Amino acid sequence: MESPFSDMDWLDTASNTLDLAIQKGLYTEFSHLKSDLDRIRFIHNHRTNLLSNTFERYLSSTSSSCLTKNATTAINFRKKGNDYFVEKDLSRAAWCYRASIALSTINSQDMALSYGNLSAVLFELSHYHESIRAIQLANDFYPNELKFKLVFRRAACYHKLNDPERSAYELKICRDLIKKTAGLDRKKIDSFCKEMDHLSRQIAILNKRKEEEEEEEQQQQQQQQQIKKSYKNLDDLIQNSQTPTETIATCLLKSTEEKTTDEFCPPSPPSPPRSTILIDESKLLLNGPNKYIPCASSTLRLAYSKDKGRHIIANQDIPSDVLILNERPYACLLLPKFAYTYCDHCLTAIVIPYVCPQCSHVLFCSEHCQQRALASYHQYECKHIHILKTLGIAFLAYRTLTITDHETLWTTITQTTIPNDNEEQNNNNHNNHNNNNNNIYKSDYSSIQKLITHTEQMSTDDLFHYSLTAYLLSEIIKSTNFLRCNQIKKRDTEQILLASILLKHIQQMICNAQTISITKTNQIDDIIFDNDDDHDEITKRFASAIFPTCALMNHSCVPNIRCVFDQGYLRVYTAKTIRQGEEILNCYGPQKSLMPSIEQRQNVLLEQYFFKCQCEGCSEVQKPQIETLANGEN
Ligand SMILES: [Zn+2]
Ligand SMILES: [Zn+2]
Ligand SMILES: [Zn+2]
Repeated sequence: MESPFSDMDWLDTASNTLDLAIQKGLYTEFSHLKSDLDRIRFIHNHRTNLLSNTFERYLSSTSSSCLTKNATTAINFRKKGNDYFVEKDLSRAAWCYRASIALSTINSQDMALSYGNLSAVLFELSHYHESIRAIQLANDFYPNELKFKLVFRRAACYHKLNDPERSAYELKICRDLIKKTAGLDRKKIDSFCKEMDHLSRQIAILNKRKEEEEEEEQQQQQQQQQIKKSYKNLDDLIQNSQTPTETIATCLLKSTEEKTTDEFCPPSPPSPPRSTILIDESKLLLNGPNKYIPCASSTLRLAYSKDKGRHIIANQDIPSDVLILNERPYACLLLPKFAYTYCDHCLTAIVIPYVCPQCSHVLFCSEHCQQRALASYHQYECKHIHILKTLGIAFLAYRTLTITDHETLWTTITQTTIPNDNEEQNNNNHNNHNNNNNNIYKSDYSSIQKLITHTEQMSTDDLFHYSLTAYLLSEIIKSTNFLRCNQIKKRDTEQILLASILLKHIQQMICNAQTISITKTNQIDDIIFDNDDDHDEITKRFASAIFPTCALMNHSCVPNIRCVFDQGYLRVYTAKTIRQGEEILNCYGPQKSLMPSIEQRQNVLLEQYFFKCQCEGCSEVQKPQIETLANGEN
């Protein structure tokens, strides 16, 4: 299915600007700059010279790729959804209705119609709670003369949810609505009435069954009371006899249990909507949460060495296949093509979409996620989201900044005074952290600030490109109400400071962000059509995110962990037994089992992470090569 997003040409613009900088003899000057702040100042000072009105052009762009609400497209998606619904391709139909909802003007009849149609899909997929919710969202703006259909569907949902009273009540409302609605097609109404009569009969059957069940329940209670009495008699008996107490009590208990499960088991209640299932996540960790790294198991510890930097090691022997880290992303970013499949805020699969009132680029899985996003970072993205979505990892850097609450952000920035990207300072940060054992490593903004950048190893071309992008991001920020000052001069200073931090975040994201994949087989249910063309792939990348704790793990092409993204958490499990003192090693991408060529792996790692991999997997392959070489010389 064609996604309604297309790319803009920021890459081209950045390359052209770089060429211009070379032509004008400014490239060498840039290459000698030592800090992010200096690089941003350079862009700021030469912006007219190098870029004329590029940024203005970008920010005022109302090109076709800019997707605001669009009634025509919304209607088209709904029609497409209807076609899929007829073909019984329910997941595609649901995707089209979600797209239609995203594109509809807020509180419009179009939006209501699409929610209404989505409720039909959800009913067919047995998501009855969700179907009722979609009907509720459709109701206010749904055409009055058609409302009886929604009410009938709701009656059917309650019937399926084993609630005959509520179902009968809804059915009554439905009949009243039909009576009140003038001008309905007689023939259609007749066949509709037949459906209602059918449901009525089913409700009657359900009612009868319920009565029987209640009767059975009463009987069961009576029996249990009798048993209790017999227990009391038994106690008397035991006190006066030689029979081993346990045997008799156990037998009696067993017979009660059998009866409970076989004869009196009540029908299982309908499963509640997904969002209401809450678990204490920290309890899932092996041996409970760590005192110093709250999202990690207490079997781990943070270590530091000059060659490895900060890293994580096992405090004790850890068995295979246990949960050792459970971390929520600090910031995450959905790949644009999955905008109508997963929640922009928590990355959960969307069943009922909640929209942004302004743009059509995002959907949320719940009112909670919608409110959280709109009240925080999304207000700084909404207007320019069509540009941000073309910037890849730089968008994640932007969100990392804007998701941070203002007070924390400015305090952290002030504490670090001038943002630095120099390796020595970075190492000092690591040392400080390592030396201070009372320091709790949280997945928060101050931890993000301390992540490594590898600036020293980056090429001037790349740094130039990132600086331009960071400056563009700061222009976007400036066009919102994010900055604190109103005075023009102070605003410039603030913008430059934020741009330099964005530049630092871009570099950090490049070497610390994690790709999030899901395994198709176990996580995608009927409702999810993922708009992904490559159906052969077992695992699928659908987002990237920054996990400050997980980012501390070093790489190995044969990692001793496996990562699973589930319910908004990155869950890290041991993939083998890990011995006390052994390092916990993640894979940054090139895994030996998937990429057997050592050369290929090393190139990928060198290019993005600037190190030559000497992991177990890489040295295994190298050894025989060295031996062969040695033999040859002999
Ligand atoms: Zn969500
Ligand atoms: Zn928006
Ligand atoms: Zn390796």
